Amino acid sequence: DSTNGTFVNGERIAKTVELNDGVRVQLGEAPLLRFSLQDDAEYAASSRLYEATVRDALTGVFNRHYIEERLEAEFAFAKRHERPLSVLYIDADHFKNVNDTHGHAAGDEVLRALSQLLIDTVRTEDVVARIGGEEFVVLVRDIEPVSMLSIGERLRSAVEALRIEHDGLVIPITVSIGVATMSRQTPYASAEGLLAQADAALYGAKEDGRNRVQLA
Ligand code: GH3
Ligand code: MG
Ligand code: MG
Repeated sequence: DSTNGTFVNGERIAKTVELNDGVRVQLGEAPLLRFSLQDDAEYAASSRLYEATVRDALTGVFNRHYIEERLEAEFAFAKRHERPLSVLYIDADHFKNVNDTHGHAAGDEVLRALSQLLIDTVRTEDVVARIGGEEFVVLVRDIEPVSMLSIGERLRSAVEALRIEHDGLVIPITVSIGVATMSRQTPYASAEGLLAQADAALYGAKEDGRNRVQLA
């Protein structure tokens, strides 16, 4: 009885029809839905497929492709609603030494431990991604700029306190963190600009001696 029509596979329906897998349902002029019937196994398979495209295989956190798209979306939202948005750019210090000293498998283990720690330390609504080899990005939404130093510091000190054991040896690890925050006082023109500023701050943290947090 809708005034602008309900269509199934392009045909306007006048009575109840049964939906089969794959049919197209159109409500009024524009919105088009595809009806899909999946059993549990099919649902699990398509979920796995999706996860594989957005997750980093080694660590299970989001991958670069995902975080770039997500940053764009979060940036647009934050800007429109005048809410703060922060990017933490995190890079493991002297990571080459970890590989050289303990082997590549140990290095991989450190990357997994770092990822887990990031996930455990930030809020569930924050987004953790591996953006490069030993580089991670965390998006922090809706936190005022004045709090960002302590959030970065919490991450930095938690990494320093990690005890990652490999072949009976403890592998010491630290990170440097660059933080850039978009807020009403510090606007940015683009998501890439915000990310680049966090990267620049990270570079400053490295220059200053590593194992530290630098605000943009
Ligand atoms: P800095 O403190 O300046 O960041 O020094 P660094 O040694 O961490 O930086 P550099 O860029 O020189 O080296 C990064 C190293 O990270 C080199 C590379 O072998 C290692 N790496 C990158 N991806 C992986 C990975 O997936 N697994 C392992 N084990 N190592 C990786
Ligand atoms: Mg690096
Ligand atoms: Mg590094």
